[in-house]
Amino acid sequence: MKKEDKEGYQINTSAIKRLCVGPFQVNAYIVKCRRTSVGFIIDPGGEEDRIISLAAREHIDVRYILNTHGHVDHVLGNEALKKAFNAETCMHETDDDLFARSRTGIAAARELGFPPPAPADRRLKEGDIIQAGDLSVHVIHTPGHTPGSVCYLLSGNLFTGDTLFVGAIGRTDLIGGSFETLLDSLKTRLLPLSGDTIVWPGHDYGETPTSTLAREKEENPYITDFILSQ
Ligand SMILES: [Zn+2]
Ligand SMILES: [Zn+2]
Repeated sequence: MKKEDKEGYQINTSAIKRLCVGPFQVNAYIVKCRRTSVGFIIDPGGEEDRIISLAAREHIDVRYILNTHGHVDHVLGNEALKKAFNAETCMHETDDDLFARSRTGIAAARELGFPPPAPADRRLKEGDIIQAGDLSVHVIHTPGHTPGSVCYLLSGNLFTGDTLFVGAIGRTDLIGGSFETLLDSLKTRLLPLSGDTIVWPGHDYGETPTSTLAREKEENPYITDFILSQ
């Protein structure tokens, strides 16, 4: 399922490719509809040139840039890629307000030495569906890591950002974070999904780059100890 090439790890399941990019080593995913070649990029956290050349090599007509949340490391490449592909940036409305439009969020990004995200072109809500060729991406609002974190579900593939990692969960000590809220999101929004759903996390912090919800239910200590044992 996994092979390494000069672009770093490249995973082929249907048409999903992963590049680990930027100063914070974020997993950027490039996804393409095989029939129409229309596609989107999830969390371009920097190294836009690598992303652009991969998209060009795969002949992907990139229409959307989907951010799982508003943290600066996940949005660093937004503007360059938006320009390169004439694509729309998409973020949950709550994180768009907090990180791109509020004084606190903008100051937080600058403190880290990065520009804050530009306001999203398309503000997302729970239940929205983004259509890219034959691909229907469902927006699942999973607050906790940030108040406007979302997971993107694409027919059995779940892009979890910093909500769920392989064997761990995202930090909840940053602006707007809440451990209880994150546990509740996992319990009510993600765990009810099919066990064979593939988890594509926002960082490669686990033993393997991807996982399944069934495996996380067995092995992820935050799920076994704080949710399933309650
Ligand atoms: Zn984050
Ligand atoms: Zn992150």
